[in-house]
Amino acid sequence: MVQFGKKNYYTGIVELVHNNQPSGYEVKEIMMVLDAKPIVRHPQLKLWNWLAEYYLCSVGEVYKAAVPSGLKVESETYILLNSDYEYDENVNLTERMALIIQLLDRNGRMKISEIERETGFKNLGTLVNKMLEIGLVLIDERIVDKYRARKETLVRLNCDRNDNEALHGFFDIVKRARQQEKMLIAYLDLSAWMQSPTPKEVLKSDLLERSGASPAVLKGLVDKGVLEIYKKEINRFTVDVSESAELPQLSNAQLAAYNSILDKWKENKVTLLRGVTGSGKTEIYSHLINDVLNLGQQVLYLVPEISLTTQLTSRLQKIFGKRLLIYHSKFSDNERVDVWKKLLSTHEPLIVLGVRSSVFLPFAKLGLVIVDEEHESSYKQYDPAPRYNARDAAIVLASMHGAATLLGSATPAVETYYKAKIGRFGLVELLERFDGIRMPEVKVVDMRDQRKRKECRGLYSNPLLVASRKALGEGKQVIMFQNRRGYAPMVECKECAWVPKCKNCDVSLVFHRNIRELRCHYCGYSMTLPNLCPVCGQDSVETYGYGTERIADDLNEIFNEYRVARMDLDTTRNKDAYEDIIEDFSSHKTDILVGTQMVTKGLDFERVRVVGVLNADSILNYPDFRSNERAFNMIEQVAGRAGRKNEVGEVYVQTTDPNNQIIEKVKTHDYEGYYDEQIDERQRFAYPPFTKIVNIYLKHKDERMVNSLAVNYVLELRKIFGNRVLGPEKPIVGRVANYYIQSIMLKMEANASMRKVKDLLRTVYERVSIDKNMRSAILYYDVDPV
Ligand SMILES: [Zn+2]
Ligand SMILES: [Zn+2]
Repeated sequence: MVQFGKKNYYTGIVELVHNNQPSGYEVKEIMMVLDAKPIVRHPQLKLWNWLAEYYLCSVGEVYKAAVPSGLKVESETYILLNSDYEYDENVNLTERMALIIQLLDRNGRMKISEIERETGFKNLGTLVNKMLEIGLVLIDERIVDKYRARKETLVRLNCDRNDNEALHGFFDIVKRARQQEKMLIAYLDLSAWMQSPTPKEVLKSDLLERSGASPAVLKGLVDKGVLEIYKKEINRFTVDVSESAELPQLSNAQLAAYNSILDKWKENKVTLLRGVTGSGKTEIYSHLINDVLNLGQQVLYLVPEISLTTQLTSRLQKIFGKRLLIYHSKFSDNERVDVWKKLLSTHEPLIVLGVRSSVFLPFAKLGLVIVDEEHESSYKQYDPAPRYNARDAAIVLASMHGAATLLGSATPAVETYYKAKIGRFGLVELLERFDGIRMPEVKVVDMRDQRKRKECRGLYSNPLLVASRKALGEGKQVIMFQNRRGYAPMVECKECAWVPKCKNCDVSLVFHRNIRELRCHYCGYSMTLPNLCPVCGQDSVETYGYGTERIADDLNEIFNEYRVARMDLDTTRNKDAYEDIIEDFSSHKTDILVGTQMVTKGLDFERVRVVGVLNADSILNYPDFRSNERAFNMIEQVAGRAGRKNEVGEVYVQTTDPNNQIIEKVKTHDYEGYYDEQIDERQRFAYPPFTKIVNIYLKHKDERMVNSLAVNYVLELRKIFGNRVLGPEKPIVGRVANYYIQSIMLKMEANASMRKVKDLLRTVYERVSIDKNMRSAILYYDVDPV
């Protein structure tokens, strides 16, 4: 802990002990050493330094992102009382602690610096640290949308396990009520009452299903005092070791892929597994993980945030039991600290299933790193720094441990497949679906033709509606994909052409009907939809276009006998909602799922026959070198949701451009053909992997200022980087949250040394920051943008 200024102290990590006096700045005293033992282990700092160098940020920014707040108590940290703390007589509360508890009790949450001010105590960091360890207080993370535990309704028998007399009494009570008797027996059965000294907990829903009785029967039993209903918080990601499963049996094709991965690793520590959707990559991963655990080593299994569902965790928990640790970004800080400390304290073979930030954890000895869905753009962090790509960081981390890496995807990133093709990565391909299931049939619907023939109903073409109705009628499910949320993406006055715009950003507002609001999808600004046009005063404000909210409404009307669910950012703000939508759809409580790209992620649903891509035009033709890649991935991934055993899935791609090269390739699931075209284009126009791109952003509240700063800055950049500098230009959305933006692109040689680039950029910045206006602007770098 080190003091800066009079009041503030910060924590840091001791990287090196040496005797060279630094020059150029005043050295601060270390006030206190917080941890008796190191909280990081080799080679974590090495990775942090690599990240800071490669992604052009400071190692402090990496530290800030990497270490949970509970391990770096600072004067600006908010703490509050832990209401779950259980009094423990062995804990000796000091007078100071008691005083802090009183203060927190009165004020709710407080900054440590505020407590110091109120009490007159100095340097409370260590003491607070101790209180955190005991569990007296918690770090408050109001800003973090915490993962909320799900409440389940459970049922239990109103007597002791050993109280046979009471049990007999219960049977007497229900003797004349056959339904109630049946339910009582079902309860005993489900809880394994007779077989086990500690009966299992029974879900209310399971009991109703097993007994086949109505809730009224249950109510009768509760009224008679036989059963009791209670609620319990269930953390979806707690490891339930009561159920276990064997390793899945591999098919011949899977087994061949598994063997071939082991082979490739002998020459190449990083190997790509391209397995088409539904080929069963997870089963192969399970076997590889098992091998590494048996060697006594650890495994990091990275998934995109959206794929970290109970579907996946419960599958792995059954196989690996307590050896599985989960690291979710929606976990509370305490839970993150728990995982961190668990890893820090052990060399045991463990597997961490986690999102992006789990690359920062203190692994003892990694033997394997798996990056599933390696093409996913959400592996890249946009804001704040470090703007790292967790896939690439994971590869570096693995190499620092001497571990093998497996990248998995049905649609590998162009860069990744290129590296596999030229032999920098090993390549294993699994091109058949599991269990002989066939790839879905893709049908392209020409919407111009549909409109000409007046066959479509708004956005919905006749073939899509017919196929959906047929599938639903046969007890199958339908997924509709539209990459726009809200009700209507366009609002306009049809008299005077007034369009509502965000007051903070250069974008038009999107209409959300259920909250009757116009909303900005960039900054969250909202206003109510005016009844009369604010410019011409006419009753002529119209909404146009189709967002997911409108589509769900429409489909509710068209298919009114079926149940429609919607999955987008608006319906999944709370993490539970996302899980609930998936669970309802996979247990067939809903029939049609409408959603944004969330529905394209690797979710497995048994009964999906039809997938509709409602407006493929909206995802094609972006002015960006990755737009084709994004479009192909999105359509191919959502198409992959269709079709299961004994049935070919049907995918309807609606477009006004049926001959588009990407659509042609999706139609035949021709990844290779798509890749060849993309890599040609990338080479022709000098884009990655043939170059390395660094985007530089300048932001300022004053538009003219940011424009002139950008021009000057580019002049300085050109002196060093020459024609590698492109821009400056105003991005498509040129103002966000009141900041005007200018962007500059640096196109470097593919093998450019980032250390050198960083030094040069620093030199340029030093030169331009003589101008104090430059210092008032925000400048940041984005390396390898996706
Ligand atoms: Zn008007
Ligand atoms: Zn806005």
